[in-house]
This record gives sequence, C-alpha cells and structure tokens, in this order.
Amino acid sequence: MEECFICSKHRRMAELPGGMLLADEHCLVSHLPLVLPQGPRESVYLGYLMVEPRRHIAELGDLSPPEASSLGRLAASASSALRSATGAEHIYAAIIGHGVEHLHLHLIPRYPGTPREYWRTRVDEWPEGPRGDAARIDELADAIRAAAPSE
Ligand SMILES: [Zn+2]
Repeated sequence: MEECFICSKHRRMAELPGGMLLADEHCLVSHLPLVLPQGPRESVYLGYLMVEPRRHIAELGDLSPPEASSLGRLAASASSALRSATGAEHIYAAIIGHGVEHLHLHLIPRYPGTPREYWRTRVDEWPEGPRGDAARIDELADAIRAAAPSE
C-alpha cells in the first residue's frame, strides 16, 4: 500500500521548507511543501498553510473533541499570524480532500491587489501573486512563528 502523503510528511517536518510553524499534541501547521503529490515545484504560492491532525483520519467529523479544539485553535492562531506576517487582507480556509485522504485544512492568504477574478480559492493561481522558494518560505516561517499569539 502506498504511504499517506501527509503521514509521511509529518515524519520529516524538519526537512521541509519552513518546518513546523505551530503545533500541539493533536495537530500541526506547516507551509505548503515544494514537493506535492503532483510532483516537485521550484516555488509555491507564498503563505499557503496547511493545518493537519497528527492522526490519520479523513473527515472533519472523525476528529475527537480534543483534536477538533486543537484544529480550531491552531487555525485561528495561524490565520492571525499569517495576516500580520504578510499583510494579507483575508485568509481563506477550506477542507476539500479530493487528492489526499488525510484531513487537511488549507489556509490561503489573499494579498492586497489580487484581481477579483482570482478571489475565492483561486487566489494561488494569480500569476503576479507572491511565490516562495525554500529560502523565502523559511523567512516567512520565522515571521509567522514570531507573530503567533502565545498560549
Ligand atoms: Zn495520513
């Protein structure tokens, strides 16, 4: 059986650009990696974060109450830190789950100046949108960790 993309990513968080941004015992937040299930990329949309439970479950409804509470808290903290670290005007949050069967919440910043036709979940397709290579993702990750509200 092929290994779950997200479970395998969780085992090598330290090697990922940006590493672990926020985490507790139930869930963790990281930047979209440069190696995606669709293949490797030179750069990805900057500030595109993922919030994921550590446990391999597929659906929002499968979260235990402590996991659900952790997912909500981390999503709120990450959104707030992402806004202050990037100047994004809005953070979209979406759970889609067509590609990978491990629950993941997408947090996608909308930057000032994004044309309206790219609003909603297509903001990351805006060709002029900020892109991050490994170095730029590392830099943003430090800014997000510094901006994250302390518990
Ligand atoms: Zn998994």
